[in-house]
Amino acid sequence: MAKRDYYEVLGVAREAGEDELKKAYRKLAMQFHPDRNQGDAAAEARFKELNEAYDVLKDAEKRAAYDRYGHAAFEQGGGPGGFGGGGSPFGAGFEDIFEEMFGRFGGGGGRGRPRQASGRGSDLRTGVEISFEEAYAGVKKTVRIPTTVQCEACTGSGAEGGNASVQTCATCQGQGKVRAQQGFFLIERTCPTCGGQGRTIKNPCKVCQGAGRVQRDRTLAVSIPAGVEDGTRIRLAGEGEAGLRGAPAGDLYVDIGIKPHPIFQRDGANLFIQVPLRMTQATLGGHVEVPSLDGTRSRVTIPAGTQAGAQFRLRGKGFSVLRSAARGDMFVQVSVETPQNLTPKQRELLEQFEAEAAKAGKSSPEAEGFFAKVAAFWDGLGR
Ligand SMILES: [Zn+2]
Ligand SMILES: [Zn+2]
Repeated sequence: MAKRDYYEVLGVAREAGEDELKKAYRKLAMQFHPDRNQGDAAAEARFKELNEAYDVLKDAEKRAAYDRYGHAAFEQGGGPGGFGGGGSPFGAGFEDIFEEMFGRFGGGGGRGRPRQASGRGSDLRTGVEISFEEAYAGVKKTVRIPTTVQCEACTGSGAEGGNASVQTCATCQGQGKVRAQQGFFLIERTCPTCGGQGRTIKNPCKVCQGAGRVQRDRTLAVSIPAGVEDGTRIRLAGEGEAGLRGAPAGDLYVDIGIKPHPIFQRDGANLFIQVPLRMTQATLGGHVEVPSLDGTRSRVTIPAGTQAGAQFRLRGKGFSVLRSAARGDMFVQVSVETPQNLTPKQRELLEQFEAEAAKAGKSSPEAEGFFAKVAAFWDGLGR
């Protein structure tokens, strides 16, 4: 089985920095997320491949090993340099990769809670796509997540009629862990039956079979703050899977995708709009009206002699800056149109203009500067 190069999987160069990796990963993960590609096995495979690649490349040590030895660095028993030798090739961080392969993640990245064999519910993640305007104003979105919730019949205890006497778990013989072959890896993971507790309930609840939680699609209203950026991840603590038999629930991570806008572009909190000017407007000066995302119109004064590429700033008309009262600005960037399809009258006027311009011999400082440099160039050549 040929494995694709991790850099190729993420579509980045080998020297890509951390930010670039993260950006590429988020974009592709959004695209191939299982929630968006239900039943599409190819997308699911891509998603797993992406997570695997990113998990290695985001970690400086794993990345160095990969750069040196390629995939062999992570094959069980293989790879020079002491990576083999059975067991987990990554040590403690290994659980993350396993979790990520299956579209979930543990307390990876060091900021999550430590995972214990407590039966804490899994973290879940989902994606939601919003419009440019919604990102500007903030929006409440409903997300639907297949998850587990606390069983109502036993209020999460897993015991029928409140009799919570326990017995040794038959799946793991009380070990709390099970081993399974997963591709190259022999992995050990928390027993799915007892959630690592090694014990199950003698008299299990008939609704949840003793798990204390049941499968259900949940809908959740997510408040997306004004000013979010494409790829922002929102964490909703305790909104992931319910824990086993009353253990704490996991968290839900919502990745925000923002659709592009037909007339506005964005860079952080700043907003950009390109406005074409008639040649005469740019030359003589005037006013243009531009729309803003807040639904108002702004009148922009164009000074006489405005050049293509000039930029005018409308303060405070950009996006909100997250977690602050500050706002970005809106920049009106102008282009200057060369007229086409002239009427005979326009042609006549422009011919008169050209004759007058040639006679006056003056144009913009930019053009004069350019011709002065050309003259200096010829002088330099001695011609
Ligand atoms: Zn067990
Ligand atoms: Zn129950």
